[in-house]
Amino acid sequence: MTVVILKPHKEESLKRFHPWVFSGAIARVVLDAAHKAAAPEEGEPVTVLSAANEVLGVGHWQVGSIAVRILAFGVAELPEDFWHERIRAAYRVREALGLVRTENDTFRLVHGEGDFLPGLIVDIYAETAVIQAHSVGMHVCRQRIAEAILAEVPQVKNIYYKSDDTLPFKAEISEPKVGYLVESQKSKDRSAQSEEFWSTENGLCFRIDWLRGQKTGFFIDQRENRALVERYARGKDVLNMFCYTGGFSLYALRGGAKSVDSVDVSQKAIDLVNVNVARNFPQAANHTAVAADAFDYLTAQKAKGCTYDLIILDPPAFAKHRDAVKNALRGYQRINAKAIEMIRPGGILFTFSCSQAVDKEAFRLAVFSAAAQVGRKVRILHQLHQPQDHPINIYHPEGEYLKGLVLFVE
Ligand code: SAH
Repeated sequence: MTVVILKPHKEESLKRFHPWVFSGAIARVVLDAAHKAAAPEEGEPVTVLSAANEVLGVGHWQVGSIAVRILAFGVAELPEDFWHERIRAAYRVREALGLVRTENDTFRLVHGEGDFLPGLIVDIYAETAVIQAHSVGMHVCRQRIAEAILAEVPQVKNIYYKSDDTLPFKAEISEPKVGYLVESQKSKDRSAQSEEFWSTENGLCFRIDWLRGQKTGFFIDQRENRALVERYARGKDVLNMFCYTGGFSLYALRGGAKSVDSVDVSQKAIDLVNVNVARNFPQAANHTAVAADAFDYLTAQKAKGCTYDLIILDPPAFAKHRDAVKNALRGYQRINAKAIEMIRPGGILFTFSCSQAVDKEAFRLAVFSAAAQVGRKVRILHQLHQPQDHPINIYHPEGEYLKGLVLFVE
């Protein structure tokens, strides 16, 4: 196997179980005999040694500033049952969290570094697991990962691979980046008849479209925060802005909201919201779904004098990279100011940021600036974050990305 030898003292972070080796920490690379090229192949497993020849771990080689993502510490090769063991461990955690129930068959099984599987995401929707590889190493291993999921997660019968948006765009990959790795006859028959696939979250049914939907098809990371909206919704006029397939809207309706407006720029998302509302609340006459840009919609509603008791703002990541943070903060301030203006006295704002590059202090400051700009009295009722099935590896704080505030606006 190819061996990567670090510069002196560069082993420190690995000894503290941080799973990334940066290219600047590498003294030299010794290729195994099978190599024709002058460098390791992206995605191949490599053994990492300290300058003093200690075995630090084994990981996937990458092209870029992160050169190796460690899969197992303290060993030179991956153990034979590595994938089964890691997937089994991840599944046991979800079981222990109470996420595997008849009323809840939707959960994240693997959250990358948070489950000690850097570069891998696996979401479970009833009988289907959707795998997303963020590294070429995970792409190379996708079949073995699929086999391990089938063996370890009893409810799973189909495995869909969806990595067209997540693999490094410069990586030379000839195999398909999307498609079923495993598909049962039942699923094939359903697909052939264009039947819909449904999945259940806390007793609410959602149509999941992993083929055409965003990310793996659904935003599982808001489950607990949606449940909190349900608690506050009774008798309220609710606006769910950036609603996607209507997650927050369904919980608000179940919580007894007086009315719910769902808004998203994507017409496809709005179509799904309507399907989901019709399935769960066939009698509901108090729900409206609109395809519109958030800023335009808020501006138009304000001009009409429209106000709300409860607004949810869950925008897409405004900052995808560190260099975009300043603009992102301005964006958060602008949209939050617009929302705060439209909240009735004594109303509530649920506001979120899923930009990893914007930390919770910076986000809070942006929301503070928005409140100050509008000049309303605002209290923080809850500080929210990502749920338990999106765990943060304590040695890898970069895994924290979702934060939210619940504000009481006087
Ligand atoms: N709250 C959702 C997830 C939101 S993801 C849930 O619980 O499932 C962010 C959503 O914002 C996406 O659906 C995307 O289509 C939408 N979006 C992106 N830009 C937008 C804009 N300018 N105006 C309105 N919606 C937008």
